[in-house]
Amino acid sequence: MGESKFDLRKIPKPEEPKNYILTDAARANSRFGKLVFALPQERNEIAAEGDPEDFVVKPQAYFRGASQIPGAEFNQSFQIFVKPFFLDRVQHRHIKDEYLIFLGASFPNVFDFDAKIEFTIGKGDEAETYLITQPTVVRVPAGVYHCPLNFKEVNKPVLFLATLFTPMFGGIYDLPDGTTKELYYNGPMQCKYNKEKKCDSCGKCLQERWDA
Ligand SMILES: [Zn+2]
Repeated sequence: MGESKFDLRKIPKPEEPKNYILTDAARANSRFGKLVFALPQERNEIAAEGDPEDFVVKPQAYFRGASQIPGAEFNQSFQIFVKPFFLDRVQHRHIKDEYLIFLGASFPNVFDFDAKIEFTIGKGDEAETYLITQPTVVRVPAGVYHCPLNFKEVNKPVLFLATLFTPMFGGIYDLPDGTTKELYYNGPMQCKYNKEKKCDSCGKCLQERWDA
């Protein structure tokens, strides 16, 4: 872009770093330590009644947003599906954009893909159902109804990444009585303030700042 002669490919390697942050104690005293988060190993706890739980590789990695990096407005799942599974049955919306990314998980070639995944965007007469049979990114804009999401055929492992640009994962669901309900889910984590307690998605930790 522009007439700039600046070429990133021609910059020499920088000197060795002078300030490694190597221990938890160093991190606690560092300026940016809260921005670097090692993912915990998660065990899936959500499978509808009667469904087998071996559709996904365990442990799984999730980034749970602001409860893990203060101020993050970003949630990310990293799941590898190995069997057909009806993941999301209920239509819903989000207050921010969501991206759903489907890649082959026969690493290292993400284009080695052999699966059939059904995904619906829109509601009622507007609803359109897409069949995903190759590496694909879907953008679901804020407010747009989507799902069901059904992994109908999984002949090779699929890496599924769901990205939501909110501090905690949650959606707006229409109830049978015509009202709507916001539901939040922050994973099978411990409470950040009470190690005895499971996270109940109360949202207290979302108020924290990374630089405080
Ligand atoms: Zn969604």
